Amino acid sequence: MKFTPPFTNVAALLIASAGMAYGNDPHAAAASSAHTAAPAVTPEAAVAKLMAGNARYASNSTSSGKPTGKARAANAQTQHPFAIVVGCADSRTSPEIVFDQNLGDLFVIRTAGNLVDDYALGSIEYAVAHLGTKLIVVLGHERCGAVKAAVASGSAPGHVGSIVSDIRPAVKAVEGTAGDLLENAVNENIYRVADKISRKAVLGDAASSVRIVRAVYDLDTGKVEWLK
Ligand SMILES: [Zn+2]
Repeated sequence: MKFTPPFTNVAALLIASAGMAYGNDPHAAAASSAHTAAPAVTPEAAVAKLMAGNARYASNSTSSGKPTGKARAANAQTQHPFAIVVGCADSRTSPEIVFDQNLGDLFVIRTAGNLVDDYALGSIEYAVAHLGTKLIVVLGHERCGAVKAAVASGSAPGHVGSIVSDIRPAVKAVEGTAGDLLENAVNENIYRVADKISRKAVLGDAASSVRIVRAVYDLDTGKVEWLK
């Protein structure tokens, strides 16, 4: 359990576009300085908490005795989640359960295929600027139905079509590579979503202290694998 996932430094990627995307916007600057008095949980400490939580979850067949009432009271007036999790809407992948966390611990954004749109990016920016959260986890999962749909076809009816078309480039990128196509596409999609967050999230001054990590959840074992 000594493995620590590599961190993507958001700042390094954001600095290049900071002048245009951020530097001259007084509203954005004000938002970035509006930190609460949140206790600082470093990205490294946040990952350690998630790894320990997932180990508890994966090695226990039940979860009981969690002090939800105490957590509800502690977080009723404010919140200081220690990690942002961008996960799939799949009902089997709930981050609070998978990481054995409680109310107020995780700031969770879920869409099919763990994609991020403007609403999701805005939610991430809010959590970083106003809640002081320093870690962003992009959490994909084994046998993801959204990725499976994008592997099967480039189109789908209704708004599912938007999901499929946004995942499709990840599928195309790994076609012909060794290994299982769906598994490779799930991983590639995770990388691409993390990269999109790095490029597009407007984190301002906080960018230098925020990190993004990538992970994939195993539906069979319950274990989260941290991607390099
Ligand atoms: Zn999924």
